[in-house]
Parts: sequence; structure tokens; C-alpha cells
Amino acid sequence: MRRRAKKKTLCPELRDVPLDPMPPGGCIECLAMGDTWVHLRFCVSCRETHCCDDSKNRHARNHAAATGHPVIRSKEPGEHWAWCYDHEASVRTA
Ligand SMILES: [Zn+2]
Ligand SMILES: [Zn+2]
Ligand SMILES: [Zn+2]
Repeated sequence: MRRRAKKKTLCPELRDVPLDPMPPGGCIECLAMGDTWVHLRFCVSCRETHCCDDSKNRHARNHAAATGHPVIRSKEPGEHWAWCYDHEASVRTA
């Protein structure tokens, strides 16, 4: 059996995360509700911005479950990683 251990993840989605620039803006669902968030996450499938699991609404997690879009990137300045909700795996993107 061939093994490649370049990245510490078995998640296929995280091997090819799109790294194009993210549009500005906060969590679209919190903004619609007039609510607040802690950190921002970016869905690489539909390019929508949602809030993290530390936020009370957890819109990124809800979005992944509702749409089947498993991969998000952190939208926080200075943070360079992506996360797959399906496999609960992360990868550095810079
Ligand atoms: Zn995955
Ligand atoms: Zn939100
Ligand atoms: Zn999405």
C-alpha cells in the first residue's frame, strides 16, 4: 500500500481548497437577524460568510449541515487554515 504523508489529513476536500480572495462582510445570517458573532468563517463552496462555533448561532456549522458544503476557511485576519466539517480535519493554507 502506497502512503503519502505530505499533509496530516485524509480529507480529500482539504487537498484542493480554493484560496482566492474572500469578499468583505460579516455573517450573512447574523446580519439578517441583527445578531452578533465571534469569528467569521467562509464557505468555499458557495462563497458565503458565516459565524464560527464560538458564536452563539454557529451559522457555519448549520450551513455545512444544511447544504452539504463541508469546507470552510477562516476569515479572520492573520488566520490561514481551512476546516472540513465532514471529517473534522483542518489544514494550513499558508
Ligand atoms: Zn472532508
Ligand atoms: Zn451567524
Ligand atoms: Zn456554502
